[in-house]
Amino acid sequence: MGINRLLNGIPKDENLNINFLKKQLRGINVELLDLKDGYLGFSTPNKIALNKNLAKQSPSLFYYTILHELCHYKRFQKYNNKMLSIIFTDDFEHFYPNILNEEILADRYADRLYYKGNRIKINYNRNLDKPWVNSIYKVFIKDSLFNKIKTIEEYDNFIYKFLK
Ligand SMILES: [Zn+2]
Repeated sequence: MGINRLLNGIPKDENLNINFLKKQLRGINVELLDLKDGYLGFSTPNKIALNKNLAKQSPSLFYYTILHELCHYKRFQKYNNKMLSIIFTDDFEHFYPNILNEEILADRYADRLYYKGNRIKINYNRNLDKPWVNSIYKVFIKDSLFNKIKTIEEYDNFIYKFLK
């Protein structure tokens, strides 16, 4: 199933502006995967990959996640080499602040576009700019992402590790 069909299957009483979302995704390669619970999505220079189970579990979080990943994807289109040099670095002091900024940016972008599409403020922003959240996130990123990916191929395939 493609992303448009999956989005069409979201019940109307969720009150989500699906046409707005489809318009944002036009021309982008979206891959739908059966990922383990807790894994929402991922973006690379070539695609947006999403946990398709989330569409049923929480349509609004699925919607938000797509917008969040769309921000990363668009920044890859614009700053590909810079983005990859950040991801491939083995210097955590260089890696982490850039990842953190990227994630804060993508949450804010999703906040804005979610509101633009639905005229409702949704509370999914992780508040990574708050120090106590940030300190937990730092450990998570060090364990899960740092120094795990060295080539674009590895990066493109990273999310397949989390298949069910
Ligand atoms: Zn992100």
